[in-house]
Amino acid sequence: MSASPEELLAHASSKVRERALLLQGSVQARTRDGNVVRARVQGSRRAPYRVMVDLGRSTRSCSCPDDYNAICKHVCATLLMSQASPETFDPAPAPRRLPNVQGWADADVEHLLERVLQNHPAVVRDWARVVAEDEGFDEDEW
Ligand SMILES: [Zn+2]
Repeated sequence: MSASPEELLAHASSKVRERALLLQGSVQARTRDGNVVRARVQGSRRAPYRVMVDLGRSTRSCSCPDDYNAICKHVCATLLMSQASPETFDPAPAPRRLPNVQGWADADVEHLLERVLQNHPAVVRDWARVVAEDEGFDEDEW
């Protein structure tokens, strides 16, 4: 069952809504692909938080550490923006394929990355930091 932005916003507390209104100018990189709305919201950290709302599944996620509120202010800000200015959300770019490494299939590259993740977490943490600091980073990965 799909949800409207209004229905999802009903989960936001009035305090979260107030804060989200102040963030309207910080909702960047807005895209919409069918029922899936994505944005980057500049918060207190240097790298913007990544927001994804799937109106089809009534799910949402944000890379911020807020696990207290049912909906964080970044998701709330993105929903408010999608209500107020839906035309400012660009059609999402087509998903990029994984790089072809030595002629490997995508599944092989994914398997390699899983192995690295399991056996060398420090490498992954280091890479995640590099990616987070790269403000031009635009990979479609959540
Ligand atoms: Zn958030």
